[in-house]
Amino acid sequence: MKIFVVNAGSSSLKYQLIDMENEKVLAKGLCERIGVSGAISHKAADGRNYSAETPMPTHSEAFEAVVYALTKSEAKVIDSFDEISAIGHRIVQGGSIFKESCLIDSEVIDKIEQLSELAPLHNPANLLGVRACIKIFGEKIPQVAVFDTSFHQTMPPKAYMYPLPYEYFEKYGVRKYGAHGTSHRFVSDRLADIEGKAKKDLKIITCHLGNGCSITAIKDGACLDTSMGFTPLDGFMMGTRSGTIDPSALTYLAEKENLSPADVNRICNKESGMLGISGVSNDNRDICAAAEGGNKRAQLAIEMQRYEILKFVGSYIAAMNGVDAIAFTGGIGENDPDLRKYVCDNLTFIGVEIDDEMNKLRGKEVKISTDASRVNVYVIPTNEELAIARDTLEIISK
Ligand code: AMP
Repeated sequence: MKIFVVNAGSSSLKYQLIDMENEKVLAKGLCERIGVSGAISHKAADGRNYSAETPMPTHSEAFEAVVYALTKSEAKVIDSFDEISAIGHRIVQGGSIFKESCLIDSEVIDKIEQLSELAPLHNPANLLGVRACIKIFGEKIPQVAVFDTSFHQTMPPKAYMYPLPYEYFEKYGVRKYGAHGTSHRFVSDRLADIEGKAKKDLKIITCHLGNGCSITAIKDGACLDTSMGFTPLDGFMMGTRSGTIDPSALTYLAEKENLSPADVNRICNKESGMLGISGVSNDNRDICAAAEGGNKRAQLAIEMQRYEILKFVGSYIAAMNGVDAIAFTGGIGENDPDLRKYVCDNLTFIGVEIDDEMNKLRGKEVKISTDASRVNVYVIPTNEELAIARDTLEIISK
């Protein structure tokens, strides 16, 4: 059984075709510059490639290019889309409505649309993908929505409420929703598998550290708390996002610099974080290289981010009254031994001990704590596409 996984952005479309018999990726690719010009780059698992520049005024033409790449190009992997059992879509914001993944119908589309207010950059773009698939494949292929927020829907009110006047929660749904839920769920499921224990019997902290970053506390098999909030701006500093800061600093700056709400949003989302502090880049590799070369602001950015990560981990240990296992994932979490060492070396007070040799490994699933460590620490590469494909298969099999 083959599942097609789609992650549609406003001008891009990422996809993977996964064979669920062995969970192997048969092909993956990316359409870019949709609405402007159009280009596809497609890779089959055996190394064959196909790329082309072709007009993509809308996502429909992008999907037509994908169908061609998968079924007819020199890197084709199937004869026809009829071989595909279902399509799984990544949807960023499911609000309080979608507590789990679901089959897409017109009612679901309406609800995702309503939730666009909470994710104006993402949900409309995700829906472009859904609608284009319906246009091209009709009702023939079932489509499933998998929400980044669902995993966090188990948070109790004490974790998700903001201490603002209650009416803003009632009127506008202003509360914490979290993000990266598909990744936190995948990694914590895998961690429980490796530990050979039921997830409900473990206190877990998952650190998804990439260009976007979030940390989640998982207790009794469910999300207790997470660092991202009403939007993925919350939490701690990321590539270009500020994370939490005193809102008064923003109102003060808005007055001083005559900034509109949109300006503040842009500054906090696109010009802050590691980029804002270092002035070098939003990319961890560039910042680490600059820091090693003596760049003081790059060094400060790294120190600040690591310190904030440590504080989140520490606060979640307290929130759960302990921790059994910690997992690092995402581009930085999987590839930055120095960051992991910093965090773990500051957790020796609860008996964390890491194996420096194992910790040097990058991008691999590995236990980096020693056998003597009272907390098991892992690197577990995330795989959101596989998580979406698994959900999709489960839902169409029901
Ligand atoms: P993601 O958003 O999960 O793709 O992660 C992107 C981030 O991971 C970027 O900041 C990269 O610099 C960082 N990253 C990827 N590979 C490495 C590496 N080998 N060493 C350090 N950071 C890395």
